[in-house]
Amino acid sequence: MSLYEIAQNQWKRAAELMDLESWITTILSEPKNEIRVNFPALMDDDHYRLFRGYRVQHNNILGPYKGGIRYHPLVDIDEVKALASWMAFKCALVNIPLGGAKGGVEINPKEHSDTELMRVTRRFTHALGENIGPDYDIPAPDVGTNAQTMVWMMDTHINSTAAHDRFAMRGVVTGKTLTTGGSLGRDKATAQGAVYTLESWAESKKFDLSKATFVVQGFGNAGSWAAKLLCEKGAKLLAASNSRGSVYNDKGMDPDALLAYIAEHKDPAGFPGAESIPDKQLWQIKADILIPAAFESQIDENNAGDIDVKVIAEAANGPTSPEADDILREKGIRVIPDILCNSGGVIVSYFEWVQNRKYEAWELEEVDRKLHRLITVAYDATEDARQRYDLGEDTRTAAYLVALERIQHAYRERGIFP
Ligand code: NAD
Repeated sequence: MSLYEIAQNQWKRAAELMDLESWITTILSEPKNEIRVNFPALMDDDHYRLFRGYRVQHNNILGPYKGGIRYHPLVDIDEVKALASWMAFKCALVNIPLGGAKGGVEINPKEHSDTELMRVTRRFTHALGENIGPDYDIPAPDVGTNAQTMVWMMDTHINSTAAHDRFAMRGVVTGKTLTTGGSLGRDKATAQGAVYTLESWAESKKFDLSKATFVVQGFGNAGSWAAKLLCEKGAKLLAASNSRGSVYNDKGMDPDALLAYIAEHKDPAGFPGAESIPDKQLWQIKADILIPAAFESQIDENNAGDIDVKVIAEAANGPTSPEADDILREKGIRVIPDILCNSGGVIVSYFEWVQNRKYEAWELEEVDRKLHRLITVAYDATEDARQRYDLGEDTRTAAYLVALERIQHAYRERGIFP
């Protein structure tokens, strides 16, 4: 099954349960727009290379398209379509006035200098042209891109399209640096949101998070921030991995020290006090919390049976295959589904966009308070749907039910033009 088929099956399971109107199912079955661009960029050795990029705009009934840009050699249209649809349901679930989109470029950013990445980003942005814009489609960072990438996108878009309202156009992307219109709290937002959902889960189970042990797959932006925030609460990081390797220490690891070690050595192997373990073993570690924060389809029928945790907080998009979902449910392991768990990223992106439109800069405390409110309400709405529909451990379907109820409302009220 392709990733896009998996994404479709997830929401269609909820659509059948709630008897979603068939014309809405028809509309949601395919993205509204699939944009593919081939563009040249100058390399440092003075030759031009052709790159392929995508922007998929899934749905905008609730607001402008919104979603990250991924730089990875394996980016393809199927993956971008899946990620775009997850964005549409995520924004609906957390009740922010945005639609869903996603983009990507087939490139390995590790093989390019900063000047090459800047030229690729500027050429990609130029090729997208008016397919993005602060009132139409607003990109953000994802795997392989960061605040600098967003600043290059913003600068290119403003210089290509804006006449007088250059300052207002900063909202064409989110996840920018603070000096160029970014928001406090955006860097940690995905992880902060995930931790808030874990707090809601812990409260319902009367579980003390300060005594929790946890494992992180993918020690990048989302994963390392989640580790920092949980350790600040007193929890213990038992194991962590990145694309190069995995390390384990049953006494716990300091996430800041691990991050500094990875910045220098790339591979976590050799981190003082920790033992290097095969990647496969990461899934077998007994802990309270598992945080997949790398890529799609990492938890599958081959490793789900080995997982021995109380809760899985899906910081990554689509980390669990449908077969693994069934196994985890049978084992009684609670999953906080991706469209809920990692929604902190798009929620604070929404705050950044609002601040840009209002020429404001909010305090971190205000950002965190508003994030906490939105994600906790979405968590409670998901729990409510899980109980209303008698879904047992199937929190994923419950989250889609909340999202689809909201989308159905909007379509019923607006209808289809003409
Ligand atoms: P990132 O590039 O900062 O981090 C990804 C990490 O995963 C890197 O450390 C990489 O080495 C590691 N990794 C890659 N393959 C791996 C493997 N096979 N095993 C273990 N580790 C591996 O990216 P990110 O922004 O942290 O995104 C991670 C996930 O979170 C993605 O699924 C992304 O879509 C999702 N997400 C990110 C945001 C955001 O705001 N950044 C928001 C929502 C969801």
